[in-house]
Amino acid sequence: MNILAFKKHSRSFSVSKPLIVAGCLAFGLMAQPAQAALTFSFNYLNPGQGFDDPTFGAARKTALNEAAGLLGAYFSNYTANLTFDVSSSNVNESRLASAGSGSFEIPGTFQQTFVQSKILSNGVDANGADADGTIDWNFFWPWGLGDTVTNTETDFKKVGMHELLHAFGFSSNIGINGGTNPGQPETWSNFDNFLTDASGNRLVSTGGVFDTSKIPALTGGSGAVLFNGANAVAANGGAGVNIYAPSTYSPGSSTSHLDDDTAALSQLIMASSVSDGLKPRTLSAIELGILKDIGYTQIEAPAEVPVPATVWLMLTGLLGLLGLNRRKAAL
Ligand SMILES: [Zn+2]
Repeated sequence: MNILAFKKHSRSFSVSKPLIVAGCLAFGLMAQPAQAALTFSFNYLNPGQGFDDPTFGAARKTALNEAAGLLGAYFSNYTANLTFDVSSSNVNESRLASAGSGSFEIPGTFQQTFVQSKILSNGVDANGADADGTIDWNFFWPWGLGDTVTNTETDFKKVGMHELLHAFGFSSNIGINGGTNPGQPETWSNFDNFLTDASGNRLVSTGGVFDTSKIPALTGGSGAVLFNGANAVAANGGAGVNIYAPSTYSPGSSTSHLDDDTAALSQLIMASSVSDGLKPRTLSAIELGILKDIGYTQIEAPAEVPVPATVWLMLTGLLGLLGLNRRKAAL
């Protein structure tokens, strides 16, 4: 049997009451739209604050639901209900939000996240009753929740799509030293299977061993680490896509994002930081290419901006996190 484990940066959360789970689950199933593809169930863990704030909570939940709907529209060929534990924080730090999803730990393999495997299997739940993913949101910063986002606010819906995509598998298990067990097979993400250095040489061998000679690439700056999947390369004019690998290693950001320092990528949803103001909430051809490469072969751009066809249940779980940082308004 496989051993269930969580990715780096994991942390656990308290568990909510099962009775609430049952009640909301029944309601959710009744309300689920017939044409729904992906549905999202958010379990809010912090009573009275953040998403449950007596004044702002309802609008924040609506914004998260709408962000999930915007992203889910690309996945309309898949059917799964994705469960997330959602916490909130209020900390004066550059991190805006973070999210993740665990995976099985099988050394020598490239693993789908639990969220990813649930989508790609059309609903088969690899981790049982635990939440498939986690999100933490930092409400220290002023958020623009709707479709008007001022120059002093951060676009909530763009960030929501970004965070959810980490849980979908747009994330790396590579750390500052590559792995933690040099020369030995370790567990990597599907995303890691496509990462190379500037010359196109894999960072992790097909057998799951990180090539320690590639450690300098992890802090090599723009172009030092590339995503070299066929679909992404095709969408990028035949070249590998620059992955974020700043000279100062950034835990939770390095190798799990598009490169902010590449102009053509800096405004895309999966760049590692975002400046204030209203942003596009659409995935680029490059991002769609990466998602195809990591397994979402049926993904497609929605014909029109959808009405969020999502249902919100309440469940329980724990998991691993990747951050999105705030960029000062002056780039
Ligand atoms: Zn991120």
